[in-house]
Amino acid sequence: MTEHTSQTDSTGAIPEQAAGGILHIDLDALAANWRTLRDHAGGAETAAVVKADAYGLGIEKAVPALARVGCRTFFVAHLSEAIRARAVAPEATIYVLNGLFSGTCTTYAEHDLRPVLGSFEEIEEWAGFCRVQSQKLKAAIHVDTGMNRLGLPVPQGLTLKDRGELEDFEIALLMSHFVSAEESDNPLNAQQIEAFEAIRSSLPHIPASLPNSSGIFLRDKPGYDLVRPGYALYGGNPTPSRDNPMRPVVGLEGRIVQLRWVEAEHTVGYNGRWLALDRRRIATISVGYADGFPRSASARGKSGEEFLAGTALVAGQACPFAGNVSMDLITVDVTDVPEAQVQRGDTVTLIGGELTIDEVGRRAGTIGYEILTNLGARYARAYRGGEG
Ligand SMILES: *Cc1c(COP(=O)(O)O)cnc(C)c1O
Repeated sequence: MTEHTSQTDSTGAIPEQAAGGILHIDLDALAANWRTLRDHAGGAETAAVVKADAYGLGIEKAVPALARVGCRTFFVAHLSEAIRARAVAPEATIYVLNGLFSGTCTTYAEHDLRPVLGSFEEIEEWAGFCRVQSQKLKAAIHVDTGMNRLGLPVPQGLTLKDRGELEDFEIALLMSHFVSAEESDNPLNAQQIEAFEAIRSSLPHIPASLPNSSGIFLRDKPGYDLVRPGYALYGGNPTPSRDNPMRPVVGLEGRIVQLRWVEAEHTVGYNGRWLALDRRRIATISVGYADGFPRSASARGKSGEEFLAGTALVAGQACPFAGNVSMDLITVDVTDVPEAQVQRGDTVTLIGGELTIDEVGRRAGTIGYEILTNLGARYARAYRGGEG
C-alpha cells in the first residue's frame, strides 16, 4: 500500500517511518459508499452520521469529502462535534443527537446548529429561547419507539400535536431510531415502524427520518424523507447475514519490530497465557491496546489450537495472535510463513483484506463500530482521495 504515501496529507501528521501503525483511510471509498446508500434510499435524502470523529476517521476529513459528493445533512452526538463539523461545512444542516443541554441554546444559534429534542423539558427550553429571540429556529424531535434510551416515549409523542410550544419553533425533522435493524427478521422493526407511523400521521407535513445504515436495507424500506447512515459509510456491513455491499474505507498496518524463536514449553507475553507446544517464530508488532486495538483480541491458549482471537495478515497469510495484547505491542505466531518472507521492519495487516472491521470486531468479542471509534491517535494517518 506504499503507493498511497505520496498522496498522504502531511499537515501535522505523524510520519510513517516514526509510527508503529499506519492507518489508511480511503475518502473516495467513503464517498462511493454514500452514493451506494443514496441509491438504496428510495428517493429519501441521504444524510451522514459523523459522530465520534466520523467513527474514528476524522471529522475534518470525512465531512468535506461527503459534502463534495452531495451530502447536505450531518448528525453528530455532541455540540462540540457540531462546532467542528460547522467549521468545515459552512452550508450544511447539522443536528446534535444527544439532546439539548441546559443553557446551550445560544451556542446552537451562534453556529446555526439544530438540537435533536428528546423530552418536554428540552422542547420547552428551545421554545422559550426562540420566543425571546423572536425567531422560529429549527430543531428535530426524537421519539423513542423501543430503545428506551433517548427521545419522547410514544404516548408523549402522540400528544405533541397539542403542545403550544410548537408555535414557537420549527420542527424540521421528526425522527426515531431502530433497536436492531441489522436483524432483518426481528419483529421489533415492524413494531417500531408502526409506532413511528402513528406519531408521524398526527404531525402531517413534518419531514420524517427513521433508518440508520441497516434500516436502509430492510424489506419494508421505511426511508421516509431522510435516512441517517453511519457505520455503512465507513465500510461496515449493514446486512450481516449477507455479503457486504459497502467498500472498505479503513486499513491498518502494524510494523514488525522484532522476530524471535520461542522454544517448546515457553510462554509469550504478560501472565504467560499462551504456550508454545513446539518451537514457534513470533513477530512482535508495534501496535497495542493504547492504539485502541482491543485487548479482548488476546490469544490465550496453546500454539496450533483453534480459538477465537486476533489475527494478522503476514505476507498475505493469516497468522494468529499469541498471548495477551499489551499496551504498545502485539505478538503474532508467524511460524507458518516462510522465514525469508517475514523480516524486521515489514508491515503486517491488522485491518484489511479478509480482516474487515466486522471480522476484527468479531475476533475481539465486540462489534466493528467499537473497532472504528477506538482507532488510536498514534498511527500515521494516510488519507487518500476525497477531492471529489
Ligand atoms: C449512531 C446513530 C445513527 C447511525 O447508526 P449506524 O448504525 O451507524 O448507521 C443513526 N441515528 C441515530 C439516532 C444514531 O444514534
